[in-house]
Amino acid sequence: MSTQVARLQENLRHLRLSKIYDLLESSLEEAAKNSLSYSDFLDRLLAQEVASKKEKNIAMRTCLAKFPFIKTLESFGFDFQPSIDKKRLKELATCRFIGNGENVIFLGPPGVGKTHLAVALGIKAVTEGYRTYFIQAMPLIASLTRAYAENRVEERLKFYCQPKLLIIDVIGYIPIDRQGAHLFFQLISRRYERGAMILTSNRSFSQWNEIFGDPVIASAILDRILHHSTTINIRGNSYRLKEKVKAGLIREPGTEQT
Ligand code: ADP
Ligand code: MG
Repeated sequence: MSTQVARLQENLRHLRLSKIYDLLESSLEEAAKNSLSYSDFLDRLLAQEVASKKEKNIAMRTCLAKFPFIKTLESFGFDFQPSIDKKRLKELATCRFIGNGENVIFLGPPGVGKTHLAVALGIKAVTEGYRTYFIQAMPLIASLTRAYAENRVEERLKFYCQPKLLIIDVIGYIPIDRQGAHLFFQLISRRYERGAMILTSNRSFSQWNEIFGDPVIASAILDRILHHSTTINIRGNSYRLKEKVKAGLIREPGTEQT
């Protein structure tokens, strides 16, 4: 290795240009062999460094987002769920709603793809450079309640307000107590018109009174969530059941033998 290449490598390490560092020797050889112009040579190397840095940032944000699984819009079978308007999903996939601090709510029975779509939009968000965080409603409320008891609620609220996109999954499986509802309301108020959210629920909005146990707090929460929002109501069948029917584990609903 020439002393010049060694010096180049040292400088690349110093500048944290790791992709160029890795590619330097082969790129120098290739440039000499193909008589690349100075600008072509530099252009190719820098493009590879930028692509590598982007990829690393996406991987880092994906890791921090704590998605329960990785599912994409591309792997979602829209044909199976005709009640979903594909065009609306495509518009949401542009992530404009995040820039505008708006909310998206997926409603529908279990297994229709609410979490899948929430994660898929979360992955688009991460790819666009938005800091994203995924959490289920119950652990979210439990963590706020714990923080309240430990006099650290402010710190916890700040934590949940940092991501540009907060995904709160499965609201409504278990009723929320009065204190939990108040803490949840505080979080929603803080993020209102500032940070986008995606929420999923198996209960219609009219049933949210029961979830939060108090119609006043439920309507205050809904009021803020729905002010700038898109609601996607999924009315189809469960995909989980479809898979089981296909595997012959169960019969299709409504085809019971007499
Ligand atoms: P929900 O949150 O509505 O209960 P999920 O999003 O968890 O449902 O979906 C259940 C499973 O079925 C997941 O593995 C998801 O990827 C898959 N799934 C649901 N709907 C579809 C669909 N239309 N196309 C492909 N996979 C789907
Ligand atoms: Mg779900």
